[in-house]
Amino acid sequence: MSIDKFDFDSTLLTVNFATRLLAMEVDPDILVDRVLEAFCDLGNCQDATLMMYDEYDQLKGIAASLQRRRFIIDEEIPLTKAMEEAAQSLKPVVRPVCDDSIYPLPSECCDTDKTCLCVPLVGSRDRIRGFVTLYRAKEQQWDISELFQLGIISTVAAISIENSRLFRQTIEDSLTGLYMRRYLFIRMREEIQRFKRRGGPLSVIMIDVDNFKNVNDTYGHATGDAVLRSVGHILHENSRQGVDIPCRYGGEEFVILMPGSEKREAEIVAERIRAACEDATISAPEGKIKITASCGIASVEECQEPSADALLNIADKRLYCAKESGRNRVVAR
Ligand code: GH3
Ligand code: MG
Ligand code: MG
Repeated sequence: MSIDKFDFDSTLLTVNFATRLLAMEVDPDILVDRVLEAFCDLGNCQDATLMMYDEYDQLKGIAASLQRRRFIIDEEIPLTKAMEEAAQSLKPVVRPVCDDSIYPLPSECCDTDKTCLCVPLVGSRDRIRGFVTLYRAKEQQWDISELFQLGIISTVAAISIENSRLFRQTIEDSLTGLYMRRYLFIRMREEIQRFKRRGGPLSVIMIDVDNFKNVNDTYGHATGDAVLRSVGHILHENSRQGVDIPCRYGGEEFVILMPGSEKREAEIVAERIRAACEDATISAPEGKIKITASCGIASVEECQEPSADALLNIADKRLYCAKESGRNRVVAR
């Protein structure tokens, strides 16, 4: 097809729609899904793989769409010659598909009936951030309009992924991987506003590691940090992804904001967290370490005047009661 034959109006409409979807998303996990969706839609196929370089410059398979079903990959992927060529030319490369991979990867041999399109993700300063690969039957080559759309989307995808990673760094605590206090307050203000407009449940759990100073004093700060990482992991495991906001509130103090959860649901989660902390064994050079944690719970309808501070104050008072009454417990009223 020649350039003057392809339908600019519908191409621009499609590209515009996909660009907005990618550029507006700041959550890296949701973005991965949107990138795959955009590539499958615009590339007119059902199978795609997204690979990105991580902070150690290893090419990691992030996610794949096989027959439109989504998979998280999380494994290192060897760079093929075709991928090297795409990275050097900054342009898509078409090759036969690798026979021995379950993901669409381009190979050098040609005795296969499938063809693979390898699109480099070119980010800021022309840096290759990764690749997206797609595949189809050999007789269905990608036409100029599809390549045009995929070219635009690959740049938007690369820049959007860079931006989402930067955004995540500004809201994530580097030790535990949980959200930072600053983000908690942003989300609390939003949730309190939503409560004032429409009502509905909203709870918080405040968690504090018991006698944590002893851990630092006995085993040193590095072991103290390992304990905090373990507690962070427990909180992450007990939070609903995309709904709850688990965050590091201060040194060894944590808060989970739970939109849509009644107090009794928060109590169940807090009790699970308390038990998981008690059951956990943290390995340190000095041996195995046991810890406990105390929790205070509050729900928005208990506030006289709903606000982030009012809600956290109630949870903090109950956490204090949990400490006063012997630690390793949950206080909800
Ligand atoms: P309680 O049961 O009453 O909570 O006692 P506690 O010892 O846990 O309470 P306290 O607040 O006195 O001690 C908290 C300690 O946490 C003091 C501080 O040195 C330590 N801490 C704060 N931030 C960090 C951190 O990032 N890493 C490590 N290792 N320790 C930290
Ligand atoms: Mg403590
Ligand atoms: Mg404390």
